Amino acid sequence: MCGIVGYLGKNRDAYPILIKGLKRLEYRGYDSAGVALINEDGDLSVYKTKGKVADLEEFCTDKDITGHIGIAHTRWATHGEPSSVNAHPHYSQSKNLAIIHNGIIENYAEIKHNLMEKGIEFQSETDTEVLVQLIDYIQTKKNLSLLMAVQVALHQVIGAYAIALLDKRHPDTIIAARKQSPLVVGIGDGEFFLGSDASPIIEYTDKVVYLDDGNIAVMKLGEELKVVNILNEKLSPEVQTVDINLGQIEKGGYPHFMLKEIFEQPACLTNCMRGRINVEHDRVTLSALIDHRSKLLNAKRIIIVACGTSWHAGLIGKQMIETFCRIPVEVEYASEFRYRNPVVGESDVVIAISQSGETADTLAAVELAKSRGAFIYGICNAIGSSIPRATDTGTYIHVGPEIGVASTKAFTGQVTVLTMFALALADAKGTVSHDEYVKTVKELAQIPAMIKDLLKVNDQIADMARTFTYARNFLYLGRGFSYPVALEGALKLKEISYIHAEGYPAAEMKHGPIALIDSDMPVVAIATHNGMYEKVRSNIQEIKARQGRVIAIVTKGDTTISKIADAVIELPDTMDCLEPLVATIPLQLLAYHIAVCKGKDVDQPRNLAKSVTVE
Ligand code: GLU
Repeated sequence: MCGIVGYLGKNRDAYPILIKGLKRLEYRGYDSAGVALINEDGDLSVYKTKGKVADLEEFCTDKDITGHIGIAHTRWATHGEPSSVNAHPHYSQSKNLAIIHNGIIENYAEIKHNLMEKGIEFQSETDTEVLVQLIDYIQTKKNLSLLMAVQVALHQVIGAYAIALLDKRHPDTIIAARKQSPLVVGIGDGEFFLGSDASPIIEYTDKVVYLDDGNIAVMKLGEELKVVNILNEKLSPEVQTVDINLGQIEKGGYPHFMLKEIFEQPACLTNCMRGRINVEHDRVTLSALIDHRSKLLNAKRIIIVACGTSWHAGLIGKQMIETFCRIPVEVEYASEFRYRNPVVGESDVVIAISQSGETADTLAAVELAKSRGAFIYGICNAIGSSIPRATDTGTYIHVGPEIGVASTKAFTGQVTVLTMFALALADAKGTVSHDEYVKTVKELAQIPAMIKDLLKVNDQIADMARTFTYARNFLYLGRGFSYPVALEGALKLKEISYIHAEGYPAAEMKHGPIALIDSDMPVVAIATHNGMYEKVRSNIQEIKARQGRVIAIVTKGDTTISKIADAVIELPDTMDCLEPLVATIPLQLLAYHIAVCKGKDVDQPRNLAKSVTVE
């Protein structure tokens, strides 16, 4: 995870650009932060501290922060506790070099041992310091240029990395390299920018190069961007134009990104469907399905690989695809799939879902499935990220940058894409009746408007949240399409309020979790008129009989459950298969408001990071 920023230019000061960039990337990691700068006298200084970017700014108030070249980092610790010493950048022993790194050097212990035997002393417990010490050692010992030393060192390294390096003897150059961790170079007018994603860059330039695995970028003042590989072969990077605007990555009057992103969902889902749903003709068109029609039509099986919230979207996708397309679907945790020699081959289509498109386990699952001949379909948000580039085809969810660590609009975007995919494929296969198809397409097109109206429930949920902040445990129940929604609701609460929460299929409650029910245990039950209303109603009675407190999510106008539940949230009436798109909204709001009431850091919950680029 971690956020990487770099700047190199002539006229602008690097420090303000780096700090602003770190703030944009803070969602990627926030246990410590640091910056390295080379000033006009050629001094290379590293300032770093435990805590957030604001703490780094405070720490730097009395420091020399001048210079037109610098690199900066916000960390999510993997090796070594969050501390000032372990924060990046790391100097090499000679203090000629400073490095920042995102990823894990897996063979760091062995390299460290060898270097220590040669008399090199280490300051931190990180795997990252090992890399900068190795580069410095190789450079000095073999009298190589920094670029060549980096190439030799990366040959010896096993693991994942995005790195950026400064050398005080070359105050006009930044060297960066990537393997499995993202890195973007921004090209300005006589200046270069670097970021883990494009958000620290777009304020200054829209020309970017997304580095590929194995790329090493040399950014030198007065020269064009040079990209080579580890064997020093010259590569021709593709310069792309990004179209993210600043408003999309700022809070726009909301107290938190998460709330902004919850409220953006009507607009985001409209964008997601734009050009794909034609309401006049009641059709869904996905270009991926046109371009790869026979491959998708002939799939014997679909395997969905994902992690976290995306995995929950996958569970909804499974029900959708099986219902409409009659193709068996398996939903796998990417982290399990990749390590267990799965049965996957040429007749399978693998759908990889990841908001960032950089999730390390999902990317590895994609590579594995690809090596076995499966056809790979990506469902991602971040344009140009690693997973879309590794897949055969796919559909972007187009919900705009998601900054809040707890995913909201990306989840509903993923479910929307999966719904469109299932409908388009079912139509092509002839496994859905024309009436059902048209009805579902029409209704799907109405979902953004329904969510817009539903969001009026925000104040009611904010009030309700106060009543439930005491809870130490929560249970979320749902059946059918609502079961993954229950899982997602529980995950949201856990992530940002640190209350233990479990999602369960409602009928399974009596096989275990019912033992937990008492007057201290709130239960969120999705009990809409769809699916198994009567059954869920009985489950609610069972909870009430044991003094449990029930928050019921019901269909508008329900009078029965309202009488027995302690609190009720009404949903618009929609089709069973589309209900996850609306039922998720109050659960996102409930988690949000409980976390706010508890004074938690909603956008940057402890121990989490947005883009899980480590295994
Ligand atoms: N492994 C490095 C550290 O612990 C970087 C961690 C990361 O990229 O999340 O400092």
